[in-house]
Amino acid sequence: MNLCDIKTVKSLMDTFSLRFRKEFGQNFLTNPMIVGDIADAAADSAESTILEIGPGIGTLTRELCARYANVVSVEIDRGLIPVLTYTLNDFHNVKVVNEDVMKADLAALLAPYFGKGPVSVCANLPYYITTPILMRLLESGLPFRSITVMIQSEVADRLAARAGTAAYGAITAVLNYYGTAERLFKVSAGNFLPPPKVDSAVVQIRLYAQKPLVPRDEALFFRTVRAAFEQRRKTLPNALSAGFPELSKEQCVALVEAAGHRADIRGERLNTADFVALSDLIAAEIAK
Ligand code: SAM
Repeated sequence: MNLCDIKTVKSLMDTFSLRFRKEFGQNFLTNPMIVGDIADAAADSAESTILEIGPGIGTLTRELCARYANVVSVEIDRGLIPVLTYTLNDFHNVKVVNEDVMKADLAALLAPYFGKGPVSVCANLPYYITTPILMRLLESGLPFRSITVMIQSEVADRLAARAGTAAYGAITAVLNYYGTAERLFKVSAGNFLPPPKVDSAVVQIRLYAQKPLVPRDEALFFRTVRAAFEQRRKTLPNALSAGFPELSKEQCVALVEAAGHRADIRGERLNTADFVALSDLIAAEIAK
């Protein structure tokens, strides 16, 4: 079954009375080379379990099933479940779950697989919800080895950006707390049915088994990053005083200087370690 063949895709959609649902970000991959490359990159061990988000009609799912021990695919669109039952019926290592990945109990869903081999995430993500899905996966605290995802090219740039560059943002600083991101390759819009409005890229996040940075107060670390980027054009002390009403402007200047920065620095110049150090000072100041 060639699910990258446009005629096959259209005929399946007709047979199962389906339409491409824009509200679910349904842009299906139609280039077998790209599908194969993503599946190859998803994990380095054949013993792996792969959590796939949004299998669509099963194009990437089939390639994952062929390479890895187990595949768990979470699909929000109930209408796609009968097609998936049909397109995946020759694989016995796949479990398809009809749920919204933002609400699913991922820990319970993956409990049978953790401890049996590495667990990684692989997906051609729905673009309307890319960042919330990535944040949910990272914040879940689940021991994923890696997350390999197709996302908008611009978001891929942001994830892999260095501090101080225009693409660097709150998501970069937070992501680097959990692991490192690498942009693997670009994919143009013509490789999807229907084609999305923007180009895409595949990014791989490798999660730390043991996080190298341990903030004194994790929630306060996230709050510090958010404050710095919510007022991106302001100097860091001004951005902090807007985000921490309990601190005076003078205290914010003193904290930024105590962390080893000039008072006119902007938050976008700080890397994750800088934010952890700064948030530790803020935590100590607030606790006084
Ligand atoms: N994996 C297929 C492929 O590569 O051709 C389809 C990818 S398509 C970009 C995104 C898929 O995610 C769709 O099947 C869509 O229905 C599904 N989806 C959208 N929002 C979702 C959510 N919140 N939870 C689970 N699946 C979702």
